[in-house]
Amino acid sequence: MSARIALDPIRLLAEARELLADTVQLRRRIHAEPEIGLDLPKTQAKVLDALSGLDLMVETGEKLSSVVATLAGDGEGPTILLRGDMDALPMTEETGETFASTVPGAMHACGHDSHVAMLVGAARLLHERRHDLRGNVKFMFQPGEEGHHGAKFCIEEGLLENPTVDAAFALHISPNHKSGTLATKPGPLLASADELYITVSGQGGHASAPHLATDPIPVACEIVTALQTHITRTVNIFEPAVLTIAKISAGTTDNVIPEQAELVGTLRTVSDKTREQVLASVPRVVEGVASAHGCRGEFVVERGYGPTVNDDDFARYTLDVLSDLVGAERTVEMTYPAMAAEDWSYVLNRVPGAMAMLGVCPPDLEPSHAHACHSNHMRIDEDAMATGIAAHAAMALSYLG
Ligand SMILES: [Zn+2]
Ligand SMILES: [Zn+2]
Repeated sequence: MSARIALDPIRLLAEARELLADTVQLRRRIHAEPEIGLDLPKTQAKVLDALSGLDLMVETGEKLSSVVATLAGDGEGPTILLRGDMDALPMTEETGETFASTVPGAMHACGHDSHVAMLVGAARLLHERRHDLRGNVKFMFQPGEEGHHGAKFCIEEGLLENPTVDAAFALHISPNHKSGTLATKPGPLLASADELYITVSGQGGHASAPHLATDPIPVACEIVTALQTHITRTVNIFEPAVLTIAKISAGTTDNVIPEQAELVGTLRTVSDKTREQVLASVPRVVEGVASAHGCRGEFVVERGYGPTVNDDDFARYTLDVLSDLVGAERTVEMTYPAMAAEDWSYVLNRVPGAMAMLGVCPPDLEPSHAHACHSNHMRIDEDAMATGIAAHAAMALSYLG
């Protein structure tokens, strides 16, 4: 871990604020034209355009429209990776903003538009400050965070090599934190997310004569409650796990017992150990309950992202640097993780690093009442993006100082 240099926070925040107007414009341009998945040609073009004129080594992805730009500092030293994800969500915007999405069924509801704009701002700020850097800064603009494993593809395409990445930092906005605050914690920050698919097969028949059929519906209901009992009785409460069955489907009408019932749900854990323990035992519960009633139970898991676990030392270092930047009163050490998931976990599995949350609660709302990420009403306080630019820059300047 590099020693912290004494930041000049007032100067750094002022430099970030000078970039705010351009950052807001870029964010709004991306917001109005959201793209989903791994192929984001318009967003990629906006990033390349915004970085043009800077002395960076720029590489673009092959399987995905990523942009990886490396800034070489004046001196030799380690490499820090800073990340902004680029993709939007398949949903319809209802914010009423003047720059709202012009693409039906697509919206930047997770704030990745602001992540890109802030990272471009940080690249410009650090480019001006490259004489203060001993080492390299790699700017990772990444598609496909929302379930498309974009970070994994970036790593496969050499993200962490040439030069080798020694540390990694990412910001994620949160409308449910006070604007301009920064928050993180050592250890688990976000959960794993796996999709669970359960099928209960019985024998259909007349609804008036269940004894002549094998009804899968009450068995499916029993599996839902058995899984809740299973989670609370087998998982250590200090390693949280959430198993939610979010969809049940069976049957066609009032007088027919269907042949099958289907359950769909999600499993969230904050450690690989708990994740594997639950995934290994769920089939036993499903098959056991089903067979007790003469049905057949099948379980299929679609594995999503692993837990996002901050490196303990790097997270402490991050809290110190951010506190130097914005003051202890605006730096929050979170007490527990959130059970959302992130593909930043792929990077943190390989490199010591951290993610921090940037509070962007709109000024007309209280953080507890602001529309959260993934809401079609989600809005942000764009002013907080100046803090985000400065936070990225502070991490790089301290690490490479
Ligand atoms: Zn999201
Ligand atoms: Zn996100």
